[in-house]
Amino acid sequence: MEKQKKQSPLGILWGWGKAHHGKFILSIVLAILGVACQMIPYFCVINIISKLFAGEKSFLPYLAVCGIALAGYLGKVLFSNLSTVISHNAAYKTLRDLRERVVNKLTKVPMGTILDTPSGYYKSIIVDRIESMEVPFAHLLPEMTANILVPLFIIVYLFVLDWRMALFSLVTLFIGLIIMSFGMRNYAEKGAGALAASKKMSDAVVEYIGGIEVVKTFSQSAGSYKKYADAVRGNADYYIDWMASSQKTMCSYNAVIPSVLLCVLPGGMALWLTGNITTMVFLAAVIFSLGLVGPIMEAFSFTGSLSMLGKNTEEICSLLNANELNHSENPVELNDLSIQLNQVSFSYDNEQEVLHNIDLSIRPKTMTALVGPSGSGKSTIAKLIAGFWDVTSGNISLGGYKLTDIPLFQIAEQISYVSQDNYLFNRSVMENIRMGNPNATDEEVKDVAIRSGCDSFIRGLDNGYETIVGSSGSQLSGGERQRIAIARAMLKNAPIVILDEATAFIDPENEAIIQKAISALTAGKTLIVIAHRLSTIIGADNIVVVNNGNIEAQGTHDELLKTCQLYQDMWRAHIGSRDEA
Ligand code: ADP
Repeated sequence: MEKQKKQSPLGILWGWGKAHHGKFILSIVLAILGVACQMIPYFCVINIISKLFAGEKSFLPYLAVCGIALAGYLGKVLFSNLSTVISHNAAYKTLRDLRERVVNKLTKVPMGTILDTPSGYYKSIIVDRIESMEVPFAHLLPEMTANILVPLFIIVYLFVLDWRMALFSLVTLFIGLIIMSFGMRNYAEKGAGALAASKKMSDAVVEYIGGIEVVKTFSQSAGSYKKYADAVRGNADYYIDWMASSQKTMCSYNAVIPSVLLCVLPGGMALWLTGNITTMVFLAAVIFSLGLVGPIMEAFSFTGSLSMLGKNTEEICSLLNANELNHSENPVELNDLSIQLNQVSFSYDNEQEVLHNIDLSIRPKTMTALVGPSGSGKSTIAKLIAGFWDVTSGNISLGGYKLTDIPLFQIAEQISYVSQDNYLFNRSVMENIRMGNPNATDEEVKDVAIRSGCDSFIRGLDNGYETIVGSSGSQLSGGERQRIAIARAMLKNAPIVILDEATAFIDPENEAIIQKAISALTAGKTLIVIAHRLSTIIGADNIVVVNNGNIEAQGTHDELLKTCQLYQDMWRAHIGSRDEA
């Protein structure tokens, strides 16, 4: 990581394209050949003029030179197009590899980090920032290299012809460079501001679309919509201001660089009139200095994306270098599936500790309920057991191994985490359930659907199991979505099931069906449940009372009623609210 930080943006770029270096090098070579061919007609013009001066009267030599000029032009077209095709092929493959790396990285980053980050951030990196690398990969590498190298050779050639003429042809280029460096002096900073404005807009758009139901319900002209509208306006204003402030330097630079004859003609005339250079040298210098302009302007057109390259690579690297969950890659043979928390402390932000020295034992195939006031740390305990985060101190073991010694995929195989947030992908109901086990047959999917009480309502949908349900699951009620999530977990058939307030917001009508589905899901499994309603967990083998990040008491329902004041209060409150209802 340290090494990558010190690399230049171009070095990082080159490293990302490693698998396609051959193609990139070929495209650079072809681009150089293309620009070199572009120069051939200039040599031909000089040759024709020298023939005219030499009094050549026969047509054929002129025709031959014209043929060479044409070949040069065709060569330029052929080589530069080939270079473009090859560089684009390599560029898009590199972008694909990069996107795969980023998405792969997300599986290793703590789940909580992902949930805590606005999804607009990931969208902007995976889609926008990586897409912005197309210009550097497909154009900057081959075209800029070629458009710098070839003029360099011409400048050397001009010096060989006559050093004074070479200097004359460089004057406007030099002035243009000064103007440009003046205009570009805070380009990277401005570019970073532009990225920040577009990121803000991206985040606001994602939030606005995500919260569209609330916006519509409360017809919010302020709030979320205002944030979105302000971000869009802010982004546009930023670019307009930036462009307006850079107009003067851009116009001057665009005017100065091509006016190369401004110095070459009078300077050359003076030298020619005083007999310091021959007519041929004078004309050759004029023609070559004109030929310099095109490639140099072309090369300079990439300076904008070159100066943004640093910021863009930095953003992508910030995700690629994000802290990963610290887990072994080698599968282990788990002895049994007992879970042990030893002196576990945890902080989300390395500042405020939310769990303090927790000790907890969970035997296989038992039911453990975590109860306690809201914010006391129940979900945090469950998420640590599921491996969503690494503990800050202490350790958690599963089947005798520290969680960190077990690969993440192996932990995921052992645990089904069912929460109230049941995300459905924009695919068929069949595919949504099959995510629990990608190898399951249609029959197996239907079997779990029957056991989780989904089968009858799925058959009632327009296309049955093939009905497409989006993330909003517009056709499905909350209870139905919940049952699909349970069917998915059932198909996964993991030996440990964590239910994170999974039934908290279920209507009474659905509750009985869902309780039945949960019983089917958890039969013979280790069950850890975070319960909202105490009546659903009175039969638990162990009820753990969590308070302020500590375990206040644990035991069976009857034991806790006798020994734990907080549990008694919670039970009384629960009975009271049930009676009221
Ligand atoms: P419970 O499940 O008992 O309601 P949680 O485990 O969700 O409690 O939360 C325990 C504490 O950790 C709370 O103070 C909560 O604000 C904090 N917390 C929970 N999730 C996060 C998070 N992703 N980032 C920062 N703090 C969090």
